[in-house]
Amino acid sequence: MYPSTICSYISIWAVREQNRLWHELSGCRQAKLFLHELDYSRARFALNLPRKDLRILVGLLTGLVDLNRHLHIMGLRQDSVCPLCQEEEDTTALFIAQCSAIMFFHPEEHSQRLHSFIRDVKQHPLVSPHKVCQSF
Ligand SMILES: [Zn+2]
Repeated sequence: MYPSTICSYISIWAVREQNRLWHELSGCRQAKLFLHELDYSRARFALNLPRKDLRILVGLLTGLVDLNRHLHIMGLRQDSVCPLCQEEEDTTALFIAQCSAIMFFHPEEHSQRLHSFIRDVKQHPLVSPHKVCQSF
């Protein structure tokens, strides 16, 4: 057996093992919504981002961003409900794709809000995504 074949088997085993551990891991509920399995191209993309952009991406993927669910867990908000729709827990998934209040916006307008949010977070790390939504 060639060494390259052995390396290939080890690499395949390592990817399977990382995916298995990721799926068996309890917790990381929000990150698991967005990251289903190991993806080297996405990892490479993320690691090539400027530090500020990477921080925003990680915050959105993990839910550790200035949304009410996270702020409630930290004891900084009374409740975890979305301030726009008042219907569901305020999470990244809700903010990006599921909030009924945001769904009424035109897709172009919604895209502008996300871009504004990212721009504002770069300038002021503690800006709330909802402040951006409410400013339109
Ligand atoms: Zn909402």
